[in-house]
Parts: sequence; C-alpha cells; structure tokens
Amino acid sequence: MRVVVTGGAGFLGSHLCERLLARGDQVVCLDNFLTGTPDNVAQLLEVPGFRLFRTDVTDYLHVTGDVDIVLHFASPASPIDYLRVPIETLKVGSIGTLHALGLAKEKRARFVLASTSEVYGDPEIHPQPESYWGHVNPVGPRGVYDEAKRFAEALTLAYRHTHDVNTGILRIFNTFGPRMRPNDGRAIPNFIRQALAGEPVTVAGDGLQTRSICYVDDLVTGILAMADADHQGPINLGNPHELSMLDLARWIVDLTGSSSEVVHIERPVDDPTVRQPDTTLAQRLLGWTPQVPVEDGLRRTIAWFREQDERHAFSAPP
Ligand code: NAD
Ligand code: UDP
Repeated sequence: MRVVVTGGAGFLGSHLCERLLARGDQVVCLDNFLTGTPDNVAQLLEVPGFRLFRTDVTDYLHVTGDVDIVLHFASPASPIDYLRVPIETLKVGSIGTLHALGLAKEKRARFVLASTSEVYGDPEIHPQPESYWGHVNPVGPRGVYDEAKRFAEALTLAYRHTHDVNTGILRIFNTFGPRMRPNDGRAIPNFIRQALAGEPVTVAGDGLQTRSICYVDDLVTGILAMADADHQGPINLGNPHELSMLDLARWIVDLTGSSSEVVHIERPVDDPTVRQPDTTLAQRLLGWTPQVPVEDGLRRTIAWFREQDERHAFSAPP
C-alpha cells in the first residue's frame, strides 16, 4: 500500500507513519509544521519507503504516483493551538479537507478523516454514540475547531455521494502518549511537565469535568483497522476509561513521585463537562477495543517526558 498521511509530523500522524512503515507500507508524509515538527519523524527519514514533504494542504495538494489510502490528519488539535491559529484551523478543516478529498478522488484511494469527539460539543447525552448530533456553540472560542471538523465530515459525505470516493470518518476521543509537545496546553502534557518540574499542577475550575483517555498505540490500531475496512462511519475511537481532571492530576503527581501541589485555574469558556465514547460500533465493525490500561499508558508517557528532559539537559549549551 502507498499511504498519504497529512499532518504526518504531528503527534498522532508520526505514530501512524511509524506503524504503516512497520507493516511494510510506503508513506508520503505531508506537513507544514504548524503544530508538528520534523523531529517527530526524524527516525523515519532513513527508512525505505518514507518520504517527507513540507506542504501546506490548504495551498495545494499534489502527489505523484499511485496512492491507495489518504489519511487526513492535518489540523491543530490542542485548544491553545487552535485558539492561537483560528483561521488556519478553519482553513485546514475546510480547504485542506477539500484538497485531501480531491487527491483521494483523483487516485481512487480510500480516504479517512480524523474527526473528533469535539463534534459533540458539551454533550447532553452521555456516553456519546455516533447517532448523537452534538451540542456545539458555533460562535464560542472552540467553534473554529468544532465547526471545521463538522464541515469536514459533511464534505467527506458529499464526496462519497457525489464522486463515489471510498470515505471513512473517525471521531477520535482524547488520546495521549509520547511526542505530545510538553507545552501544547493539553491536560496530560501539562500535568506531566508540571509534576516532573515540581511546579504547581494546574487544574481548570473544580476539576470535576471528565475526559476519557486513550493510549496512542491503541488508537493507531483502530485507525489502521478503519483504513483497511470500507466502513463509512462515523465511528468513535477512544478508551471509555473516564476520569475527572482532578483525579487525573492527582494520579500523575502520584505516578511521577512529585511533590507538586494541585492549584485551580480558570476554566476555559465552553469547556465540555463530560466526555466518554460509546465504542459499540468500533467493537462490532472494526473488532477494536483498547488494550493498554490507562495507568500503563501514563507510565510510558511519563518515561518519555523524562527522557526528553534528560536529552535536553545533556544537549544544552554549557
Ligand atoms: P498535532 O497538532 O500534533 O498534529 C497535527 C499536524 O497537522 C501537525 O504536524 C501540523 O503541523 C499539521 N498541520 C496543521 N495544519 C496543516 C496544514 N495546513 N498543512 C499541512 N499540515 C498541517 O495534533 P494531533 O493530536 O496529532 O492531531 C492530529 C489529528 O487528529 C487532527 O486532525 C486532530 O483534529 C485529530 N484528533 C486528535 C485528537 C487527540 O487527542 N490527539 C483527538 C481528536 C482528533
Ligand atoms: N485542563 C486542566 N488543566 C490544564 C489543561 C487542561 O485542567 O492545564 C482541563 C481542560 O479545561 C479540560 C480538560 O483538562 O477540562 C481536558 O483538556 P484538553 O485540552 O487536554 O482536551 P480537550 O478539552 O480538548 O478535551
């Protein structure tokens, strides 16, 4: 298989590229490094079958040769990222998705969209099944991301029905693991970085809001299952293990052996109160369930953050 991964130098994209190469696929990785970095795929540059191109998928998208699968993962994903670059976020969700779908149409390739649990907004149904239409504020700060992804889903369906493109939509829930940027602003990298530095761990509001968190290796297994299938979705992918942000902060402090205290900061506007995937469809259609216990995933992620700290300490100029 020859697979195009947009956003391939990001957190999820880089793990995807790695696993695709490991199973013998060729990978064309396209990224403009807006929120990702070539460092994430530096270890792949010498692997036969891997090509990295600096490309903004909202400008143009041209790939020479055959393509079997297009995995469209380009988009800022962390709230502080998409609040910093709201127009780029809307453009990559709309124009970028248009171009990625156009590529799949031209190459007669399978297309998989990385959509998000954010399409459910601040949900009034819990856990969230794919049949739920969501509760999104289009003019709130998160609207730039949520509505871009909702538009991307509609566009994907339009290409399926109008141009007969073999499309699939995944709604990905909160995922964590190595290669999250320590400063990307999401709860898990923030809590780990703060705990390792002995700084206060910042919990938003009372911390009783919940998320359900999935280790990246499990998520990538689910993405590959969707890439190889011909289901149209949308299908939720995520680990139903739900916990409050206060419990998560305390757990990370405990696992890191840190003496950090938990402090409370202002809760972001429109921050969802609960979130948990109903994964019945993923189990039935893809035979997928997460395998990595959350504690194991947190330990592996903490170990990776520690390694990065050490590497930077050693490579820092005297
Ligand atoms: P990330 O920010 O680490 O990766 C996104 C990548 O897309 C980055 O490398 C960035 O440089 C690239 N990119 C952004 N705009 C681009 C453009 N115009 N052209 C080319 N490349 C561009 O984020 P992530 O966590 O890896 O998320 C990847 C995808 O998965 C996103 O589409 C996101 O919406 C989706 N997703 C992620 C999660 C999660 O928990 N990580 C949850 C739901 C959905
Ligand atoms: N959060 C927090 N402290 C932080 C960063 C985030 O308590 O330093 C909260 C945030 O308000 C939200 C939850 O953690 O309630 C998850 O936030 P994240 O940005 O990781 O993911 P998302 O909101 O996109 O699900």
